[in-house]
Amino acid sequence: MVISLEEARRIVLEACRPLGLEKVDILAACGRVIGEDVYSPRDIPARANSAKDGYALRSADVQGASASRPVELKVTETIAAGKLPRIRIGKGQAARIMTGAVVPEGADAVVCREDTKETAKTVLVGITASPGLEIRPAGEDLTKGDLAIKAGAVLRPGQIGLLASMGKSFVYVHQRPRVAILATGDELVEIDDEPPAGKIVNSNSYSLAALVGACGGIPVMLGIGRDRKAELARFFRQAGRADIILSSGGVSVGDFDFVKDVMRDIGNEMHFWQVAMRPGKPLAFGSVGGVPLFGLPGNPVSVMVSFEQFVRPFLLKMQGYTNIFRPMMKVINARSIKKQVGLKHFLRAVVSYEKGRYVARLTGEQGSGILKSMATANALMVIPEQKAYVKKGEEVVVQLLDDFTTGGSANLPGLVFGQAAEV
Ligand code: AMP
Ligand code: MG
Repeated sequence: MVISLEEARRIVLEACRPLGLEKVDILAACGRVIGEDVYSPRDIPARANSAKDGYALRSADVQGASASRPVELKVTETIAAGKLPRIRIGKGQAARIMTGAVVPEGADAVVCREDTKETAKTVLVGITASPGLEIRPAGEDLTKGDLAIKAGAVLRPGQIGLLASMGKSFVYVHQRPRVAILATGDELVEIDDEPPAGKIVNSNSYSLAALVGACGGIPVMLGIGRDRKAELARFFRQAGRADIILSSGGVSVGDFDFVKDVMRDIGNEMHFWQVAMRPGKPLAFGSVGGVPLFGLPGNPVSVMVSFEQFVRPFLLKMQGYTNIFRPMMKVINARSIKKQVGLKHFLRAVVSYEKGRYVARLTGEQGSGILKSMATANALMVIPEQKAYVKKGEEVVVQLLDDFTTGGSANLPGLVFGQAAEV
């Protein structure tokens, strides 16, 4: 039975169990999903300190001061960042203070050095100041006990800095899935071999490994399985130590397409087989010994498009991400496109920003064996099942494969940027 993409996705994601936590150095934590609530162990900053290089003083002393009528104050000491003040500021006094240095008692404001004139033992302040001016209060960033980062957040560079400021060098994050990758097919040769007549190099395992890595998974290369049930069964059983298994090829209706049979035989578990989409219609999803198994199609583009629709969200969910889908955006279709009705089409396209709007152009021939047009695409144009024609200038929905709208963070899988249409 052929099911819709939405139904297939629902089944796939329902079968997804998020992985447990592991402790990692914060230097390795950017882009990962944190699995613990982090509370601030102290006030940050711990003491009120100066926001500027200047003079700490009593605001009452400089009321009405101006460049033409400066107020002269006696300088008590110089306070460097990291040093504590020694002298309380009294009436008519000021302390020379550096950015980040603790504000001395008695002072309630800091004026910038640029607004003063220095003499040997005094300072002329040419500006009036209100209480609190240029002072960063204690606990301004975080107060002791504040929930600084909530479990489930994707750690971005700012959060890494926040963790460091709290003195936390390790955090618990969701584990990365180990993803076993198996190519199937009697026609396949290894990457370093010259393919004899009738054979081709196994490229799927490599595109899959790259896709897996780009969304946080750890690829485990199983190599090539031949089109024999016993051999495929052996590979799948062996792969049971991984968190998820991906195979490519052998799921169609050919005489030697055994992946589905093996999935049924050894796991007795196959949830569905065909999805109403192109490319990527054949897709067997089940499990072997409790390990989810995606029998992806063999065609080099189909395997990638299926990965995008099903495996990527699955892997992201496993790692605790909640934002697991590629951003969608409405763009202008550059040239008219014809398609068959009945299947949802994913067409390889480049989206670019032109004269104030986003425009999508197909990258070339759309055959499912033409990897070249996939290689240059930054988006997939999604054409609904029942549509037969997309006119030039018509709005179409694209799924963004790159985050080109925000300048790129391919290594931060969780950083999926809301609806890019709002950008
Ligand atoms: P299949 O579904 O096994 O019949 O494969 C469909 C098409 O994809 C065939 O033309 C295969 O040669 C091609 N194919 C299958 N596996 C791979 C692979 N690992 N690398 C490149 N092409 C493949
Ligand atoms: Mg095959």
